[in-house]
Amino acid sequence: MQRKVSSVNRRQFLLGSGGLAVASVSASSFPVVAKPVSKSSLMPSPKGNRVVIVGGGWGGITAAKYVKKDNPNAEVILIEKNHMFISCPMSNHFLFGLLDYESLCYPYNTLRVKHDVKVINDRVLDIDLRSKKVVLPEGFIEWDYLILSLGIEYDIDDKPFYKDSLEFFPPGFTPGSEHLYLKRFIEEFEGKDIVLTVPKMPYRCPPAPYERAAMLLSYIRSEGLKAHLYFIDANPNPPVLKDGFLEAYKDFYKSEADYLTSTQVKDIDVAKKVVKTDKGDIKFDFASIIPPMRAPKLLERIGLLKRGQKWVKVNPLTFESEVKNVFVIGDSASTYLPKSGYAAHSEAKVVAKIVAGRIANRKIKGRIIQHGICYAMVNLKAAMMLEIEFIYDANLKKVKPVKREDNTWKVSTAKRYYEWAKGVWRDMFN
Ligand SMILES: Cc1cc2nc3c(=O)[nH]c(=O)nc-3n(C[C@H](O)[C@H](O)[C@H](O)COP(=O)(O)OP(=O)(O)OC[C@H]3O[C@@H](n4cnc5c(N)ncnc54)[C@H](O)[C@@H]3O)c2cc1C
Repeated sequence: MQRKVSSVNRRQFLLGSGGLAVASVSASSFPVVAKPVSKSSLMPSPKGNRVVIVGGGWGGITAAKYVKKDNPNAEVILIEKNHMFISCPMSNHFLFGLLDYESLCYPYNTLRVKHDVKVINDRVLDIDLRSKKVVLPEGFIEWDYLILSLGIEYDIDDKPFYKDSLEFFPPGFTPGSEHLYLKRFIEEFEGKDIVLTVPKMPYRCPPAPYERAAMLLSYIRSEGLKAHLYFIDANPNPPVLKDGFLEAYKDFYKSEADYLTSTQVKDIDVAKKVVKTDKGDIKFDFASIIPPMRAPKLLERIGLLKRGQKWVKVNPLTFESEVKNVFVIGDSASTYLPKSGYAAHSEAKVVAKIVAGRIANRKIKGRIIQHGICYAMVNLKAAMMLEIEFIYDANLKKVKPVKREDNTWKVSTAKRYYEWAKGVWRDMFN
């Protein structure tokens, strides 16, 4: 039975949930002493209700819209380095010709026009947690509340061979031009051997590489290509919807695919087009190499991410970091939720309520997100789905995900998949 959110004792939960729990600290015990900021202010000082959101992806856009909706008096500023929102969810559809690129793109201007959110398209260079300043190339902006939804970075510092492969064999796991480049390769492909790699969990969107492999195989056949896919997976199995994905690959094993499980990428020779693994070398004509991932290094520089950690620890009920009124949501955070768009979107709504409540001097408790949904294509026509219920286990003092997988392939599920994405995009922008 699902446990009601209100019945969770917040303090007990914080104390008992081990690695997940962090409590807010006072200004005197900041994680690091940030460098003093010497640039000039870009805006007048806030009057107690300025909410600055960094990162205009699935989490940040939702947070911006909902903070404003929940508290129209708040001054909401969204800072995003790109000029256009481009969705990663549904980007595999774009790669294989099921959706136009335009369908993935939304202008940030909509947030200003419809929701009175100030949008700044620039890169945040630094954040001073002590003086509450976000630093941009031209100056700084102060905040009363800060929401960080910075997504992921490829974790390649100790594996330099990935640097070249990123340019030549794009992963398509961050929003934007990687997808355009990858699509061109797919459309112009005339060779034989293709390599697709999956990093060890956790990474952004667990089913996405498996979906890409299944769609690619279906595409190879439908286009009559003489290609062979080497699908190199660092994990022992697809972490979700395993039965459905394995069924999708089975039909291709004779001549079109090899699925290499528990196989680690050790090196990539970009010039010779060879990927070296712990099980042998594979030569290829074209590849999409997906490196390991981590929260952006900016979060480490400012002290929210401890040395050696890949993801930011937050309070699992409020998504507040160890610094009061600084929240980290989406893929950068380590929570009970999978790294997915629906999780970032739901977390943003929880944080928006908390921030709006604090601005209005109303006490609002954090809450466990109770439900999640995930779809995955198995070929160019049909999809399967997974629902997750998150239940608080009072004995273990942990949130337990209870998964209900429907591994059956349905064209109707593929339609629901697209409707789901359109529904969330509408909710983010309209
Ligand atoms: C191929 C693929 C398919 C997927 N399919 C699904 C799906 O079907 N369902 C699902 O739920 N999820 C899916 N996902 C996962 C989903 O895309 C992510 O989980 C989601 O985008 C996370 O939201 P976020 O806000 O944390 O990060 P993002 O959406 O990546 O947003 C982060 C933003 O921060 C900006 N930023 C970073 N650093 C700075 C800086 N210093 N200054 C200014 N801006 C900055 C970035 O430009 C970016 O716009 C998929 C992902 C991929 C790659």
